[in-house]
Amino acid sequence: MAGIYVHIPFCKRKCKYCDFVSLAGVHDYSAYAAALISEIRLYKPLVEGRIFDTIFIGGGTPSLLPIELVCAIVDELRSCFDIVKSPEFTIEANPESLTFEKLNVYRNLGINRLSIGLQSGDDDVLRAIGRIHDKAAFINAFDAARAAGFNNINVDLMHGLPGQSTSSYLDSIRLACKLECEHISSYSLILEEHTQLYSDVINGKITLPDEDTAAEMEDSGFMLMNEFGYMRYEISNFSKPGYECKHNLNYWDNGEYLGLGLNAHSAMHFSNRWVRWANEASLSSYIIKAANGKLPVETTEEIDRDEEMFETIMVGLRKTAGISRRSFVERFGIDPVEHYASAISEAILDGFMEVSDDYIRLSNRGLDFQNEVLLKFM
Ligand code: SF4
Repeated sequence: MAGIYVHIPFCKRKCKYCDFVSLAGVHDYSAYAAALISEIRLYKPLVEGRIFDTIFIGGGTPSLLPIELVCAIVDELRSCFDIVKSPEFTIEANPESLTFEKLNVYRNLGINRLSIGLQSGDDDVLRAIGRIHDKAAFINAFDAARAAGFNNINVDLMHGLPGQSTSSYLDSIRLACKLECEHISSYSLILEEHTQLYSDVINGKITLPDEDTAAEMEDSGFMLMNEFGYMRYEISNFSKPGYECKHNLNYWDNGEYLGLGLNAHSAMHFSNRWVRWANEASLSSYIIKAANGKLPVETTEEIDRDEEMFETIMVGLRKTAGISRRSFVERFGIDPVEHYASAISEAILDGFMEVSDDYIRLSNRGLDFQNEVLLKFM
């Protein structure tokens, strides 16, 4: 089984902290959709025989794309690829661009999971990070999604934001939990160079919560989600039982996925070689290549077996369930406990890792020191 990711890179305005491939301002959405459709057709013979069980339309702000273009893209996916009858099918959306009508069309297209970017339920914090929605717009969008029949909704939250206190972060969690969303992704702010927020912080215009406060937010936030019945299944992801995101679990299992669209990344086995590739990062190059019947690929990398094993460990240890020893043996022909014997023994001694007949995984303490543990495996 494999996943399909479709990247829609457009946003109304660039958020101050954003380092994603997202383009604000006016763009030719139709030309982009036509390029995507051409790219989908080009992949048809190349991925024949593969069965896809998840689709994720991410961004950017996919909900900005005119609905008829979303329909055309989804129709093309279904006609070119072998997709299971009821895939997990997610679309990302920002509150201000959602309407009941649009949500209804999404449902009719078979989209059954919605991921809403709330980030914070505190209007002052939202303004400080340059978001264009407020708490009320989020609640309206959430209610409209439920009314349209979405029964699997993720809410994105962030902590460590400018002007955010622990109680403000906990209130945001309470807001999401009381609406009874099925899934919460809660990421800590990463201050990326080349963002507006980075220069504001460097120039002293904005201060961020200090490290202790950010750590306190994380600990108390994670406890609160737990009290509301959300289980942590990945470092930054929490869900009600049975609502873990299958598409993302496939990434953390180092599974195959096909990425379509601007700067989208893919990873697949071809004749037993593990190959990763990335699409053009420039919008004009992407559109020109795809429109001219060429795969809009910028870089390709063949990963050797050792690297593939290490990647599988690196992403797999993000999951609280860890890595299945049996799956690892099926893929690589060797037990990870044998292959990484000394790294694993050290990590166990440090209290960072737990091993059973079925799995290797990080302990609760180890989840906070994942990078340190991985160094042992390198
Ligand atoms: S909505 Fe998301 S992708 Fe768009 S600018 Fe904001 S953070 Fe970036």
